[in-house]
Amino acid sequence: MIVVMQTDSTPGQIEAVLNRLREHSLRGHLTVGEERTVIAVVGAAIPPTLREELEHFAGVKETLRITQPYKLVSREVKPSDTVVTVGDVKVGGEHLAIIAGPCSVESEEQIMATARAVREAGANMLRGGAFKPRSSPYSFRGLGEVGLQLLAQARAETGLPIVTEVMTPADVDLVARYADVLQIGARNMQNYQLLEEVGRTGMPVLLKRGLSATIEEWLLSAEYIIAQGNPNVILCERGIRTFETATRNTLDLNAVAVARKRSHLPVIVDPSHGTGKWYLVPPLTLAAIAAGADGVIIEVHPDPDRAKSDGGQSLNPENFTSLVPQMRAIAKVVGKTW
Ligand code: PEP
Ligand code: MN
Repeated sequence: MIVVMQTDSTPGQIEAVLNRLREHSLRGHLTVGEERTVIAVVGAAIPPTLREELEHFAGVKETLRITQPYKLVSREVKPSDTVVTVGDVKVGGEHLAIIAGPCSVESEEQIMATARAVREAGANMLRGGAFKPRSSPYSFRGLGEVGLQLLAQARAETGLPIVTEVMTPADVDLVARYADVLQIGARNMQNYQLLEEVGRTGMPVLLKRGLSATIEEWLLSAEYIIAQGNPNVILCERGIRTFETATRNTLDLNAVAVARKRSHLPVIVDPSHGTGKWYLVPPLTLAAIAAGADGVIIEVHPDPDRAKSDGGQSLNPENFTSLVPQMRAIAKVVGKTW
């Protein structure tokens, strides 16, 4: 349930509500919005009489039941779009994230060339994996900390914030020292200990949808992060498993519209993993922005034919550069910019 406070409620009245929740062993998450202040009540056993009890408290306007299993990610709790800030970049509302870079960081030359090219083209963040989840244990699994150092070098030169994946709770401290956004990969969407650990950092988190996760499961995973007191979650649709074999995954643009309707969190799209083919990336990028996505994350490699991972779905810098003006044109139509 949520407790909606009157617009002129005092800090003391809010505290009185929070104290009563503590007496019931419940937690209250306070959201102070421009239009209203609400307290989301979270916990296992909400007594049936609690709503009536709290409606008599001074400063309380009304109490409402939240019908969804997720609470803090829900638009019922926070109707306005969340804008996640990453350095000077904003994601959500009218602000688009244009994240580009290689699947994996491979070498200094490769990451520096990519970072320069994507910044020149107009990207506002750099992606690159140092710890790679690979389907086969024999594939290239990333450079580890050396890869993180190369990403930091690319950020120092270009000013682009870094998005990079963290795969285990034990690596969160290390990756957090270099990254600006912690990426949770599709395969880890339901690694609940990892979600709580990145939640505790307070840093922006890019949460990919699992390969066969429902939208509700995806939003519940975001709830794990926010429940740790970290509201800086960016959802990312990256394609799901279906019966279709013509593409690597099926990019579910329905999910963008559904997630944005149900949640206040920004939702971005990964057309590279969503399609698996570089020549399908431009049309699906434009479709994602038209569908209301708050950004895209696109794999770009200076020499895709020689990439150590995901070369077949990576744009070369020329193709990425010619896509950007088209993205700007569609963004304008839907009232967004970067
Ligand atoms: C990636 O971004 O390179 C990646 C491994 O993505 P996903 O977790 O969506 O497969
Ligand atoms: Mn990849």
